[in-house]
Amino acid sequence: MNNTCLILDGKKAREYSAVFLRDKIANLPIVPKLVIVSIGNDTASRVYVRNKETFGVSCGALVEVQSFPEDVSADTLVRKIDELNLSSSVHGIIVQAPLPSHLSFSELTQHVDPKKDVDGLVRDSLFIPATARGILSLLSFYEIQVTGKRVVVVGRSELVGLPTAKEFLKHDSTVTICHSHTKDLAHHTKDAEILVVATGRPRMITRKHLSEGQVVIDVGIHQTEVGLVGDVDFESVKDIVSAITPVPGGVGPMTVLSLFQNLYDAASVQIL
Ligand code: NAP
Repeated sequence: MNNTCLILDGKKAREYSAVFLRDKIANLPIVPKLVIVSIGNDTASRVYVRNKETFGVSCGALVEVQSFPEDVSADTLVRKIDELNLSSSVHGIIVQAPLPSHLSFSELTQHVDPKKDVDGLVRDSLFIPATARGILSLLSFYEIQVTGKRVVVVGRSELVGLPTAKEFLKHDSTVTICHSHTKDLAHHTKDAEILVVATGRPRMITRKHLSEGQVVIDVGIHQTEVGLVGDVDFESVKDIVSAITPVPGGVGPMTVLSLFQNLYDAASVQIL
């Protein structure tokens, strides 16, 4: 590996911020509570729920998982979300993706009260979407400036790509968004100073898409026969980039941190 390639360690950055978060939560007059609405038996979904529970509890929050069978109807879930919206002991609500194919993630999440939308996905949400907040926090931890930088985001989903692009814009980066219809993807990705990849396509970004010295943020996460891999082919690019997130251990832990930072903010507002 190139000696100057920096591994952007999300676990290390999260632990640094978690110290402050634990302190802030301990000083609240109430214990903030997150409810995770979990549907079906998807393995990835179960792992995400467990990671959130473990980290949230370690920060002093309450985390309750409300589980539903694979064939639950959208109406049943909407009724549950309405009930949680009204409960004064619940400060944050998330619907855990991925969902069974008969359910629409964006339609369900739009029922969450914007004051409790700690994933930051509802229109008029008070919160920065957790993945976007996590990526910006990780760059800040490593003192990588984003203002004025050319940032290319590959992926335009409502969950990851779009909110991440918006967050960089808020920080005065110059942002390009690419997607599955983008012509000559490598032309755009090579021009980035900071490249964010969220395509959901295992190892699709390879050396031919990159130029020397770039900062690469790999949001993807996939279980394969060789273990967890991202949307970037880490082995083929690690020699030329200046900094890169590993998978696992890069963006994932920072997304979970952001969720509980948002929960703290939600609880603080609700007790005012
Ligand atoms: P998604 O909803 O499937 O969106 C994928 C996006 O990538 C779409 O905008 C799609 O373009 C674009 N795309 C697909 N193939 C492409 C190609 N060949 N060239 C250029 N663009 C392409 O996925 P998502 O929910 O955003 O998730 C992306 C990845 O992040 C997944 O691996 C997911 O598991 C992971 N994830 C990680 C975290 C974390 O905390 N680490 C959190 C959430 C998600 P179109 O719009 O044109 O279809």
